[in-house]
Amino acid sequence: MSSTGIFLDAHATTPIAKEALSALVTQLGQPGNPHSPHAAGAVAHEAIETARKAVAELIGAAPGEIVFTSGATEANNIAIIGLARASRHKSSRRTIVTSAIEHPSVLEASEALTKEGFTHLIAPVGEDGRLDLDAFGNMVGDDVLLVSVMAANNVSGIIQPVQEVAAIARAAGAMIHCDAAQAGGRLALDVFDLDVDLLSLSAHKMYGPPGVGALYVSAAIPTRPDPIVFGGGQEQGLRSGTAPAGLIAAFGVAARLALAQREEDALRLATLTNRFTAGLEALQVRYRRIGTDDRRLPGSLNIAFDNCDAQELTERLSTIVAISTGSACSSGQISTSPVLDAMRLPQSLKRSSVRICFNRYSTEADADNSALALSRALREIEVATGSIAQ
Ligand code: PMP
Repeated sequence: MSSTGIFLDAHATTPIAKEALSALVTQLGQPGNPHSPHAAGAVAHEAIETARKAVAELIGAAPGEIVFTSGATEANNIAIIGLARASRHKSSRRTIVTSAIEHPSVLEASEALTKEGFTHLIAPVGEDGRLDLDAFGNMVGDDVLLVSVMAANNVSGIIQPVQEVAAIARAAGAMIHCDAAQAGGRLALDVFDLDVDLLSLSAHKMYGPPGVGALYVSAAIPTRPDPIVFGGGQEQGLRSGTAPAGLIAAFGVAARLALAQREEDALRLATLTNRFTAGLEALQVRYRRIGTDDRRLPGSLNIAFDNCDAQELTERLSTIVAISTGSACSSGQISTSPVLDAMRLPQSLKRSSVRICFNRYSTEADADNSALALSRALREIEVATGSIAQ
């Protein structure tokens, strides 16, 4: 256990792999600008191109289809805003359809386009946390330019039916974007199988560093997005700015590791989550699972504890176990996660739910100790609130 406790918040970020950290440090120690025409520049350029191949391979793409960005936020913005602007004079389609549980970088980018003459439709999810495909299908008509549905959700951990979404969108002649920030490196992803035109990735969700991500742009996409940042025209003109060779090299190493270890990781993570929930049960902790269990990210759990304020729980545990809640209190008002709101869960369940996600480096001791710490904290809360006698 480190001084910040056991890290069980892999939906928020993952610990950097030591191999990725070492690639980052090595490349940062080299002075070359990848766009300079000398040997030092060539070394940085080579590091970026090696990483491009690794990231492409992770998702079954060609290296020329990978555009490095500062993260999934930027990739999502280029995909949505860039594509809408590029299509304005080529197509009369003016509707963007997203799910209700997309990341703010998708929802707000789509909403921003309403000021530019586009309509943003939001498809609901069921109580199981999965997109309601019937409702989605009813929204996808011949005015739809783009649909954007994530591969897996960052609050519930629930995997979304991207292939089905793509089939509906294709039939209507719309293009398809998938935010795979949570799924990249954790689930088998193949852009051909998924049949998407655009897909976003984030390095820090797959044991790489924060501050770097990628947008896959299919070579066959009918309209390429326009850039949303202007400058030196790097990354095929889609993302100007000096490419950060160190961050990108580390992302490439993380992608290669993920490809090699994904199946083994998934098995270990399943064992750890089962061990953790068995630990809770052995300690007689009563909890409820939120969302369907058969379609969730490996290592991910969203659970609610009866009569417990999740925020108080996470605060009590803050230096012992890092987990997060589906609700936050600001200015005395409790606001719950829009993802849990979209699942239409009762208020009591939303306020008592916590998001937990084990990572590749979690151990059996982490699973046992965190179950114990949770049961103790729950008991302290019960005693403090008078729900049980001491
Ligand atoms: N999409 C999803 C689903 C995410 O979980 C996140 C990160 N929380 C992002 C996009 C943004 O990624 P980044 O931090 O790389 O900008």
